[in-house]
Amino acid sequence: MKYCRFIQNDVPQYGRVEEKNAELWVTALIASPWETDRRAAWESPRIEEARAFEPAPLMQLRLLPPVAPSKIICVGRNYRDHAKELGNEVPAEPLLFFKPPSSLLAAGGVIRLPRVSERVDFEGELAVIIGQRARNLRRNDNVLAYVHGCTLANDVTARDLQKKDGQWTRAKGFDTFCPVGPVVDTELDLTGALTIETHVNSELRQRGSTADFIFGLPRLLEYITAAMTLEPGDLLLTGTPAGVGPLAAGDRVEVSIAGLGRLSNSVVAQES
Ligand code: MG
Repeated sequence: MKYCRFIQNDVPQYGRVEEKNAELWVTALIASPWETDRRAAWESPRIEEARAFEPAPLMQLRLLPPVAPSKIICVGRNYRDHAKELGNEVPAEPLLFFKPPSSLLAAGGVIRLPRVSERVDFEGELAVIIGQRARNLRRNDNVLAYVHGCTLANDVTARDLQKKDGQWTRAKGFDTFCPVGPVVDTELDLTGALTIETHVNSELRQRGSTADFIFGLPRLLEYITAAMTLEPGDLLLTGTPAGVGPLAAGDRVEVSIAGLGRLSNSVVAQES
């Protein structure tokens, strides 16, 4: 099942997403996958047949981020080739950091380049959404049972401030620095190799495979939940492959994985 979240007549709605002629369409309204009986809801989301909905191409709707996480946890340097391109050692353990929920941006939204940074980079990433509360998982547990689904993310980063500040809160945390979406897929096989690409102005800039993760999902979820409880809806950004580079005002940046559509965002300079 694929779904998105969007605004219709000023009201947030969830919509079922289906592929038609290689294009993603929203074909019906569904009940929230996050209602009280969450597991039942997200295993079999209820189609709201009673409410009329005219099918529409996904990208013509006013999309919202498809999740509302209590926290956004990110993994740095989780692809060997990306660690190397920034001159870093391959880490012995996962390197974690947060982005604030205030940095979330929907597909189609505008990334604003902060005045205080001179170098803002794109980082295309697979994002995993937690489905049920998780604490102290072991990698040999069926950790994927705790995963609701996945979507696309762009871990936008003020690279100069990341180096200058010595920690990453500001560099990773500006408003609009966490585009996510456009769809959540609850069935995509996360144990397989997914090819992730980032294009800037239609030019291919990143191409990597999740088969090249340094730390796979079982190890990441074990490591994270040894420290903190993950809540339903929490978002895990799994790291970016090689090829990161700067964004400029006027650019269009697009992250894609087959079946998950395109996370497309334009870039503007922040107004003074
Ligand atoms: Mg990243």
